[in-house]
Amino acid sequence: MSFFQYKALKGMQDILPPDIYLWQKVETAAREVFSLYGFQEIRPPVVESTNVFTRSIGENTDIVEKEMYTFTDKGDRSISLRPEGTASVVRCYVEKNLHTLPSPQKFYYAGPMFRYERPQSGRFRQFYQIGVEAFGDAGPRIDAEVISMLRHCLLRIGLKDITFNVNSIGCPECRPAYREKLTEFFAGGLDSLCPDCNRRQHTNPLRILDCKVDRCVDMRKGAPRVTDYLCNGCRTHFNGLLSFLELLGISCTVNPDMVRGLDYYTRTTFEVTSENLGAQNAVAAGGRYDRLVDEFGGPETPAIGFAMGMERIIELLRNSASHDFPAPDVFIAVIGDLAAREGLVIADRLRGKGFWVELGDVGNSLKSQMRRADRLSSKYVFIIGDDELNSGRLKWKKLSDSSQGEVSMFEITDFLLKQSS
Ligand SMILES: [Zn+2]
Ligand SMILES: [Zn+2]
Repeated sequence: MSFFQYKALKGMQDILPPDIYLWQKVETAAREVFSLYGFQEIRPPVVESTNVFTRSIGENTDIVEKEMYTFTDKGDRSISLRPEGTASVVRCYVEKNLHTLPSPQKFYYAGPMFRYERPQSGRFRQFYQIGVEAFGDAGPRIDAEVISMLRHCLLRIGLKDITFNVNSIGCPECRPAYREKLTEFFAGGLDSLCPDCNRRQHTNPLRILDCKVDRCVDMRKGAPRVTDYLCNGCRTHFNGLLSFLELLGISCTVNPDMVRGLDYYTRTTFEVTSENLGAQNAVAAGGRYDRLVDEFGGPETPAIGFAMGMERIIELLRNSASHDFPAPDVFIAVIGDLAAREGLVIADRLRGKGFWVELGDVGNSLKSQMRRADRLSSKYVFIIGDDELNSGRLKWKKLSDSSQGEVSMFEITDFLLKQSS
């Protein structure tokens, strides 16, 4: 007997049926909606050189400072599990010279991300994101299209009660002046800030604006607002975005406190929140990052993207309504070894035609096979025994309304097609 109990790592979860159908539903909706806007899938690796992330996300962010899964590999290289998707996509865009293709280039990705966080409700160390990135379009129209695409996607998934927040956090031209104002504003009350923000006051004062600690929330009342410090270019871009959003009928709240935790954002940032989640209420977030391609050694390329957090979307879905999970089309109950052989052949033929078929175990009684068919919520049950083998006709039963009848063994496919049409 083994006295070691195998367990998944802390903060890592197994995703099982029937939950997996909700995951697939979200993934399918995202693929369908994104493709309507011309976004194509890209699959970068899950592991990259550590500097891909430190360079882009920023040395003074929580992610890089505390949360990265960083290892030294056997070749003595520092590698990291990706904590988010954008850095890898940008690395790929530059490395594979995708900027030589006609602009804009539009991509989406889906997969696991890794952050070594304190496990808390709704947060995992391996978590999943679906994200999009659009390269090569500087104007606010693509910002509006991306936000509209996110909205269509969340609606198709079936999420209600969601709020769109937008902001502009300026550019390298106007942000330094704002940053200075912010540092000045917080300088007087350093002792009142949480230890993290106390440090951020020097390294990245904008981050104090989205700290969730109560006393930091209090402290920032009356803080200078980034939207009051935008340069003409950023102001025009932001007003353009707001007017496009209005044109598309997307109601948005301008939220000057929403600065996003990553260093690489410029101008537009946005976030979708749901009242039906707790404190960690963002289901998707993104923004423009016009400097990042350049920083990776590519040509200056404007870009914008977002990522949706799968776990939170699934949580909302799970609580929102009852869901129909897929069920077998047919359960074949068999009595006797000959019937079991015939059942196997029929099942194989039906599966070849695209039906989900489950086979009963000949070692079990008919009653127990029927129980299993019921538990699986099978739509139809076919029963095969000696009589049926002799006559070539099978008894069928529809479990939802208990209707029943007979059908020739050779007409089962037609019978099922007729029922499902
Ligand atoms: Zn600016
Ligand atoms: Zn704080």
